[in-house]
Amino acid sequence: MEILKVENLTKSYGTGEAKVDALKNINLSINKGEFVAIVGPSGSGKSTLLHLLGGVDKPTSGNVFINDVDIYNLKEKDLSIFRRRNIGIIYQFYNLIPVLSVKENILLPAELDNRKIEKAYLNDLLKTLGLKERENHLPNELSGGQQQRTSIGRSLINRPAIVLADEPTGNLDSKNSKEVIELLKLSVKKYNQTLIMITHDNNIALQADRVISIEDGMITANEVI
Ligand code: ADP
Ligand code: ADP
Repeated sequence: MEILKVENLTKSYGTGEAKVDALKNINLSINKGEFVAIVGPSGSGKSTLLHLLGGVDKPTSGNVFINDVDIYNLKEKDLSIFRRRNIGIIYQFYNLIPVLSVKENILLPAELDNRKIEKAYLNDLLKTLGLKERENHLPNELSGGQQQRTSIGRSLINRPAIVLADEPTGNLDSKNSKEVIELLKLSVKKYNQTLIMITHDNNIALQADRVISIEDGMITANEVI
């Protein structure tokens, strides 16, 4: 079942001499539950695409449909609600709040949304991410991998249908990187979420169901693994 569809998506930054065509007429369809890796050289448009899929930027033209909702035709306020309910984003940098514990950092988006989280679900998420024993620790008491798993927990707490990840292991050594990817895969499988991840790591890309290659703002390959 299709969860995400992109039609004739283009994005340009700047004007005149300084104009950059970051994405040129992208078309794409992604099914519910898929794990899609996005690969390509630096500056090819990967982050721009991810941001447009997540409703955090405006396309120059074209459409992004999530569950048949044409997200950029929503009013600003409705888009922001839609995004909070449906999209989780994981970045290379964790941006955890240093004075809040692991558990409090993870619960933050739910709190901002005035959403009650069942204890059983929170505990399950903490266990799945291997953080149960660390739930009351502060970020500076954690390894890099544990910090990234906390930031993943924060992205997953509202049970988004789509999880977008921009180089989530870019700051981790290979051991922590492996662990984070394993736990992230486990977690999205468990909750039947769709995972779209930018990565430079071939070993990670090969674990995806599909690899999309981007070069110079265009999709140059779209291959089922
Ligand atoms: P990637 O994620 O593959 O490295 P990006 O999507 O970040 O690529 O960038 C694609 C192109 O758009 C690059 O040429 C980049 O310099 C340009 N670009 C990205 N963001 C901006 C911005 N906010 N303003 C101007 N140019 C940008
Ligand atoms: P890893 O071997 O996974 O890279 P570290 O060597 O950074 O992890 O840390 C090993 C363990 O020590 C981790 O479980 C982490 O929670 C704990 N730890 C790391 N730094 C601190 C700290 N500053 N204060 C308390 N505990 C810490």
